[in-house]
Amino acid sequence: MRTSRRCVKCQCPRLWHVDPVMIPDTDSSNLVELLPGVARFASGSAAGGEFGKRIEAGRFEVWICAACGYTEWYALEVNEMLAWLTRNPRSGVHYSDADAATGPAAAG
Ligand SMILES: [Zn+2]
Repeated sequence: MRTSRRCVKCQCPRLWHVDPVMIPDTDSSNLVELLPGVARFASGSAAGGEFGKRIEAGRFEVWICAACGYTEWYALEVNEMLAWLTRNPRSGVHYSDADAATGPAAAG
């Protein structure tokens, strides 16, 4: 939908584009906050269990069909952080490239 500018389910040309995706701040009546970053970690070494300043990286963008509500999500500015997180087995982040047996992409 992001490139075709049409809903992939119903072909409707009317789309909502939301970037970045935000969530209501439940402690306030009039504030919204960014959806938590795609990747979150505590500063320090990737392999260690250190607790430091929390760092978030990346953001989500969505395309929503105005007719049927079908929604596409995209993660932006995440490759560098996710590549770093693959070094920590507890992060739950794993990389897959069906065309190569090498490590994670460095840019994106
Ligand atoms: Zn649709």
